[in-house]
Amino acid sequence: MNKIEQLAEIIKNSKYAVAFTGAGASTDSGLADFRGKQGLYNERSYMGYEPEEILSHDFFFAHRDIFDKYLEEKLSINDIKPNAGHKALAELEKMGKIKAVITQNIDDLHQAAGSIKVLELHGTLKKWYCLKCGKTDTKSFECDCGGSVRPNVTLYGEMLDEDIVSEAVREIEKADTLIIIGTSLTVYPAAFYINYFKGENLVIINETETSRDNKATLVIRERFADVMKGVMDILKKDNIHD
Ligand SMILES: [Zn+2]
Repeated sequence: MNKIEQLAEIIKNSKYAVAFTGAGASTDSGLADFRGKQGLYNERSYMGYEPEEILSHDFFFAHRDIFDKYLEEKLSINDIKPNAGHKALAELEKMGKIKAVITQNIDDLHQAAGSIKVLELHGTLKKWYCLKCGKTDTKSFECDCGGSVRPNVTLYGEMLDEDIVSEAVREIEKADTLIIIGTSLTVYPAAFYINYFKGENLVIINETETSRDNKATLVIRERFADVMKGVMDILKKDNIHD
């Protein structure tokens, strides 16, 4: 059995599979992976600032113009579409295999693909709100009240939403299969969550090596979209529906 067949088999036999996705899951959709080979963090400076600095709480309030410009140029989600990998996860949820998608991404691509249960650890660029009156929209807007508007994402220096964090941990604890996608697992919080997994199959799909490859049941170093397309072809042929 090759690795794609092995993954199909694992998913087929899972009762409660959970997916955990990082930036690498969105690269096939054209969004830059922060820490991948051509990642945003390797492109060290933007107008003299590092990405971590721009995407921080203090910077947002001190240099709003540069923050907005950076978001528009580097993190725009308006023209990107879910890839075959996102679509596969949504389809697997409908089949009753995937019970939840936990994501570090803020690009809304899982929902766009049709996933229902999505836990966004870092929030989403699809929701913006006025800090003064609370008005919301799906994109940046000028508020009539004159208040400042911000995206509902967790910036560096801000706390993650505790309810979402707890729910993510609970889902991972319940899972018999955990599929980690597109994260090198070197940085918090991905490495933290994975410690709660007590299930049978830990699967890692990432183009480069990760810190937990040695603990995994299956490691696939290929593109997420290609892997999941292959898996779905096998599962559909097997008629998992019946
Ligand atoms: Zn307002």
